Amino acid sequence: MIRFTLVIGLLVSGSTTLFSAEKPNVIVIVGDDMGYADVGAHGCKDIPTPNLDALAKAGVRFTNGYVSGPYCSPTRAGLLTGRYQTRFGHEFNPAGGTAGLPLTETTLADRMKSAGYATGWVGKWHLGANEKHPQKRGFDDAFGFLGGAHSYFPDKGKGETILRGTKDANETEYLTDAFGREAVAFVEKNKAKPFFLYLAFNAVHTPMHATDARVKKFEGIKDNQRRTYAAMMFAMDEAIGKLLAKLKDEKLEQNTLIFFFSDNGGPTMQGTTINGSVNAPLRGSKRTTLEGGIRVPFFVKWPAKILADKVYDDPVIQLDVLPTVLAAGGVEPKADWKLDGVNLLPHLTGDAKAAPHDALYWRFGAQMAIRRGDWKLVKYDAVADGGKGTSPAHLYHLADDIGEKTDLAAKRPEKVKELQTAWDKWNEGNVAPLWGGGKQKD
Ligand code: CA
Repeated sequence: MIRFTLVIGLLVSGSTTLFSAEKPNVIVIVGDDMGYADVGAHGCKDIPTPNLDALAKAGVRFTNGYVSGPYCSPTRAGLLTGRYQTRFGHEFNPAGGTAGLPLTETTLADRMKSAGYATGWVGKWHLGANEKHPQKRGFDDAFGFLGGAHSYFPDKGKGETILRGTKDANETEYLTDAFGREAVAFVEKNKAKPFFLYLAFNAVHTPMHATDARVKKFEGIKDNQRRTYAAMMFAMDEAIGKLLAKLKDEKLEQNTLIFFFSDNGGPTMQGTTINGSVNAPLRGSKRTTLEGGIRVPFFVKWPAKILADKVYDDPVIQLDVLPTVLAAGGVEPKADWKLDGVNLLPHLTGDAKAAPHDALYWRFGAQMAIRRGDWKLVKYDAVADGGKGTSPAHLYHLADDIGEKTDLAAKRPEKVKELQTAWDKWNEGNVAPLWGGGKQKD
């Protein structure tokens, strides 16, 4: 279902021919551990995010935008493959060493490179090292760190090296500023050809590091952690603003497709890297398959092709980014790629009226979830309820109960059975995790 709140910009049918000869540029921006509530477009009052809001306003805002896992690395694996990461054992964060995105998988960057795109990665990788380094996975240019978390200041903590390619970049700037600078530089370098940039901020993941000047802007926030979080979020928003301004300056704005989403929900629960985020009105946290762990701020814009200021309510998932981007780049997926994501473009132009997915599925150890229509069946980390282990299956009707408060499992056993059966069938296509869950730190 689509709500047209205000229609501005070019008409789709009129503009397509104008740009059909020219491949769009593609930028995928990922935030880290953002709370669902912590963006202006979702009503956030204490942290201004004007550039993210502008991005959402210039395109489509998904109200039911999901990621396929409640942790950093698994959702990045899903993003870059367009496949549920449980299909290939990437169920948990890699357990150190060279563990990472299996070499059996072809990445979005591999496919874009094959399609003639200049490809670049800036930011946090968290998908392995050595033969799993970004430049071995389809990215021409690489700038960032390979692990799951990093100090934002060069002189705080040891941290791993910030790399340019495979060499020490000798970075001296606040890390979010550095990532913004490198994103702009990538556009400058590649502005004459079609490019694909994967900009994966580690903001607003811990450690809680912010510049004094930005912290000062948020003096009105009493809670120390929330104040620092606000300053970190503001830094990310500024970096995105610089990138958007660069596109505008180079007259690339119209024909650049930009996705933004957070890699998982805000970590608000003990045992996660708590950062001061807020997921309201959602319940749960990073680490859980409740909505607070998997439903995230999620926007897309492409002025040349999709309408502006649109709110899209049918469920979508970050697995859809790959098929959508490939379709934009003129690449036809093959059946043996076994993609789980779907091309959203027909849905974003209003051509397709049906929901993109029959159902969405999650598996994270003993936690599971399935969403079909407005119904969700979920077994979640019971720490969220102050208990231990994993909960039994709960049934929620999300349209009436976005906060997953009223369990309807006892009232609707036939619905529980239907959803469990569908999930079991989906799960037959998954494999055992390649490494254990262990302590899921980052
Ligand atoms: Ca994360």
